[in-house]
Amino acid sequence: MQSYLKRSSSDLSNLFKYNANIRLVKGAYHENEDHAYQRKFDIDNSYFEMVKIFLQNKNIGQNQIFAIATHDCNLIEKSINLYSLSDLKKEHLHFQFLKGIREKLKMDLLDRGFIVEEYIPYGENWLPYSLRRIRERKSNILLLMRSLISS
Ligand SMILES: Cc1cc2nc3c(=O)[nH]c(=O)nc-3n(C[C@H](O)[C@H](O)[C@H](O)COP(=O)(O)OP(=O)(O)OC[C@H]3O[C@@H](n4cnc5c(N)ncnc54)[C@H](O)[C@@H]3O)c2cc1C
Repeated sequence: MQSYLKRSSSDLSNLFKYNANIRLVKGAYHENEDHAYQRKFDIDNSYFEMVKIFLQNKNIGQNQIFAIATHDCNLIEKSINLYSLSDLKKEHLHFQFLKGIREKLKMDLLDRGFIVEEYIPYGENWLPYSLRRIRERKSNILLLMRSLISS
């Protein structure tokens, strides 16, 4: 789910009726302002509101997973603080990152007992995927070059 979409929080509440597993991202594409928040402040607020909805949900399924997929240290720490006030087991809350980013934080979260996952793109459509990531953030070109060299 993408926190920049204005409808996402209400969709999230509905999806919990089905014990859906969720990956929460901010959103990578350019969306119309009728449907999507444009300012980082609003996108981050919406992100944290959605984390709250999950952590305050009293009917979490036995195997249900909510994945916080962001590189935003502030949002991650705020989410952990809120999590520590809940009765939730760590198995329900995963932290996901793109490969090659926030390596130190990944190790730190592992040391604190959290589940950490890396998103590793592969396959034939690597070029359009990589171009999208580079358009999103120029520094991703370094990640692409590193993976081309290592392969
Ligand atoms: C596991 C995973 C799956 C994703 N799947 C989707 C998807 O299905 N659909 C979709 O629309 N989007 C997806 N995204 C991308 C997401 O929507 C954001 O565009 C992207 O994660 C950047 O936003 P951020 O949450 O890291 O926060 P930002 O506010 O953009 O960044 C927070 C901090 O992290 C740093 N940072 C962010 N990205 C990078 C980077 N690439 N390299 C170095 N530093 C960085 C920034 O400099 C900033 O300090 C996914 C992201 C992840 C981690």
